Amino acid sequence: MKGYAGKLLRVNLSTGTVADEPLPLPVVKDFIGGLGFGIKYLYDELAPHVDPLGEHNKLMLVPGVLAGTQAQGVARWLAITKSPLTGLFARSCCGGDFGAWVKFAGYDFIIIEGKAEKPVYLYISADGIQLKDAAELWGKDTAYTQDWLSRQHGSDVRTACIGPAGERLVKYAAIVSGRRTASRCGVGTVMGSKLLKAVTIKARRNLNLHDPEGYGRLVKEQIEIMRASNEYHKNRKYGTTDGAITRNVIGVYPVRNYRYGELEGYQKLSPEAYKKLEVGDFGCYSCSIRCGKIHVVPEGPYAGARSEGPEYESYWAFTGPIDSNNIESTIAADQLCDDLGLDSISTGNTIGFAYELYEKGIITKDDTDGLELTYGNHAAMISLIEKIGRREGFGDILAEGTLRAAKQIGKGAEAYAMQTKGLELAGYEPRGLKGTGFGYATNTMGGAHTNGTVMFQEWGMPVPRAVDRFAEEDKADILIFNQHNDSGLEVGIVCFFAFMCGDWYQRLFSKMLQTATGIKEFADRGYLNKVAERIWNLERAFGVREGFDRTHDILPRRFQTEPLHTIEAEGEGQVLRKLDQFLDEYYQLRGWTKTGIPSREKLQELSLGYVVKDIEPFLIRK
Ligand code: SF4
Repeated sequence: MKGYAGKLLRVNLSTGTVADEPLPLPVVKDFIGGLGFGIKYLYDELAPHVDPLGEHNKLMLVPGVLAGTQAQGVARWLAITKSPLTGLFARSCCGGDFGAWVKFAGYDFIIIEGKAEKPVYLYISADGIQLKDAAELWGKDTAYTQDWLSRQHGSDVRTACIGPAGERLVKYAAIVSGRRTASRCGVGTVMGSKLLKAVTIKARRNLNLHDPEGYGRLVKEQIEIMRASNEYHKNRKYGTTDGAITRNVIGVYPVRNYRYGELEGYQKLSPEAYKKLEVGDFGCYSCSIRCGKIHVVPEGPYAGARSEGPEYESYWAFTGPIDSNNIESTIAADQLCDDLGLDSISTGNTIGFAYELYEKGIITKDDTDGLELTYGNHAAMISLIEKIGRREGFGDILAEGTLRAAKQIGKGAEAYAMQTKGLELAGYEPRGLKGTGFGYATNTMGGAHTNGTVMFQEWGMPVPRAVDRFAEEDKADILIFNQHNDSGLEVGIVCFFAFMCGDWYQRLFSKMLQTATGIKEFADRGYLNKVAERIWNLERAFGVREGFDRTHDILPRRFQTEPLHTIEAEGEGQVLRKLDQFLDEYYQLRGWTKTGIPSREKLQELSLGYVVKDIEPFLIRK
């Protein structure tokens, strides 16, 4: 099997055994790689209602099919599991080198199951695969852990690990590799529940492509297309640090727990301001964009803080929710989240929730360990991050995420939990980007900003057609287009920032898949779209089997009852009113029932007939 290792590694932590398993060709053809492999194996191997933090959940570390090749921006990898935050399928994407190293080690992906008796780490090298004692590392942050493993096994290893947050089962703990994170949905929490501190790989670069010369020509073309685009040079120069300006100008930068769409004084978070603090950059394996900008705070209360980032989502999370435009605290908060192994989006969103509860008097200093959660108080935010990551004091409640924390706090706090299906929403205001709001509502893993929103069309990119960002009608087809597009990207796994650099993906990606693997069907873009639709439906079926349906495709009431406020940007007074109407159209176009269940016919059309028996009870009941 060219382009693939042709096998996966299965690690059972309960028995301490490891085994190679062949990757069946029909799975390769039906799911291609990356996200496809992850959801296929997770669906098939997990019984419904498995405890996400129990022995029977599984964690998969899955690179894309092109990881480790010389193509640009295709080396990302996914952590896939059942989420302890949502109870749904979870997929969290990470950059860096680790995905390429999985391939170099001779595996298409790794499945981790069971639970160790004591903390361990997995070490993979040409000399064998070992589960090793991690007692020295338990309790240590992710920077120390990776340094220690590099000292132990050589600087050429690559590691994915958890920090104190994962060990303490913070519900939104991340897996960290280098300074990149697979952060959403609590994938690090699952790793912590298994007492697995790290996976470290030592491997030599090697791949076995079907047509290396042809592939090399396609990569050359890819690089030319990317370098001719403005996006490439913008990302290379600034990374994502232009986000505060571009989002605030149009009033979609959520502020004060999604009450406002514009941050006062957002100009202080400009790309030029971040540039002044930049000391270097970082690129994922074989990516010349090098969008990771390393920042250091030179002076003041956060002097010495250093982070590779923050990326847009992170610095939004450390500013908008608490109404602060302090740039230095975003760098300190980012470093802290990476060290502790926390998802910055859920962390910032949950802290913003706490600030609103404090403002409304639902909680007081007696509840917050004496911290004053007043807007603009970034020092209190930093304290809360530390408390959450270590589950100390009030942090122990916030470590549960907004939905569970609200239930614990009571007094109507649930109304202020800005989440969908238990996953905290990201830095995009749905009343100013209404199709993106519908994306939050229908996302198979909860309120995520990746895997299908309409934000780029709503910002004015007319591909495949232009849309009015305030309109609520006629957006179902475009959302489905994007959901499938994003699933297609993640078989690669293509980085979204690289995807945005010219039209190489549309022109070359299918050819790259075919040239790398020799599987002729992959050259057809229609085939890739079908695989993407299969993936989306299987993700949905996973949720249905867990009891999710239309009643869960919702948004926080705030967006449907309270008008958006801006300062100067367009969008003042916007409310999102037609979610129900949208869902009718969306389900119909998808071939699902009115209650949001994939129909028998649709599943059979997608060669997912074997799933019908699992969701039959839900089809009958509804
Ligand atoms: S664009 Fe940035 S995040 Fe994407 S692959 Fe390149 S360096 Fe990594």
